[in-house]
Amino acid sequence: MARVYNFSAGPSILPESVLRKAAGEMLDYQGSGQSVMEMSHRSKEYETIINGCEALLRQVMAVPDNYKVLFLQGGASSQFAMVPLNLLNGSGKADFVITGQWAKKAFQEASRYGECKAVASSADKTFSYIPKLNKADFTPDADYFHICMNNTIYGTVFHELPDTGDVPLVADLSSCILSAPIDISKFGLVYAGAQKNMGPAGLTVVIVREDLLGKARESTPTMFNYVTHADNGSMYNTPPTYAIYICKLVLEWIKNDIGGLAEMEKINRKKAQILYDFLDSSKLFKGTVVKEDRSLMNIPFITGDEEMDKKFVAQAKEAGFVNLKGHRSVGGMRASIYNAMPTEGVEKLVELMSKFEAQNK
Ligand SMILES: *Cc1c(COP(=O)(O)O)cnc(C)c1O
Repeated sequence: MARVYNFSAGPSILPESVLRKAAGEMLDYQGSGQSVMEMSHRSKEYETIINGCEALLRQVMAVPDNYKVLFLQGGASSQFAMVPLNLLNGSGKADFVITGQWAKKAFQEASRYGECKAVASSADKTFSYIPKLNKADFTPDADYFHICMNNTIYGTVFHELPDTGDVPLVADLSSCILSAPIDISKFGLVYAGAQKNMGPAGLTVVIVREDLLGKARESTPTMFNYVTHADNGSMYNTPPTYAIYICKLVLEWIKNDIGGLAEMEKINRKKAQILYDFLDSSKLFKGTVVKEDRSLMNIPFITGDEEMDKKFVAQAKEAGFVNLKGHRSVGGMRASIYNAMPTEGVEKLVELMSKFEAQNK
């Protein structure tokens, strides 16, 4: 069996041990005589899975007790609307930092529901940095302040969180959740599509401080009200049962095989360093992001010559390194090296890049 090194930005690589475990349990989940996919979500077996997944997530991420964990659907993109529907109902104002396409989409969608302000943007340099924030620009009575923590397409990350005082900080964590410890108490709400670091597509995780619940506007669809899901243990309707099961296996892998998020971060730092060090020393390839804002998860790079980029992506694919093409809006290359990418995968990629460089002097 030949598995490729998959650098996809999402859906993305999963730990091989998780896939093997799921394969082993596919036809007969722990003596139940059925696959998790076929199970009633109201069954005792499934209850153990979803409750186990939540307990593990709380433990691994050290989620404080005054936060609810919700397992939803609709992707991170649905949260661009769900957040304002639920939170933008006090002053009706919210602040946004525009650090890329996802941040912009969150801003545009929320603007349909209230008075939204872009307090800073890095659009002037193709989102290759995190803009400096000036507290004087913040809206003091905003209902929330939104950031996209890790910018999947452009490869930047907030290494430092904005100090928003009493204004709840809301963050899209889709491409950095579970990559390192994060202090949830600094946020009012975080959300993430699962298909980058948590499991398969179809599951969206929301972690929300309890005092922010119950403020949804009257016209909010029942399914878009956080309270609906908080009050029903994410079982108001059928949850994405199989995706939650895989997420639980991924969390078990982080806890038992890796040793938790602090260890995960060490591994991720080491992996990213290997690629960044190469990019900084290469004469052919270069990173596109300013050093101080570089992401550990998504690393875009270019040769500066589109034809050369294409040639590299094609050669890499042939050698079993797939999905290295950059996002269609920026071109070049992008290596997404999420939790499940083994260090060896990054080392081999650098070997390949170095060979390619020698051949294309
Ligand atoms: C992938 C991604 C999204 C979109 O997620 P969907 O689940 O496809 O809606 C939003 N934000 C960020 C940061 C992402 O990486």
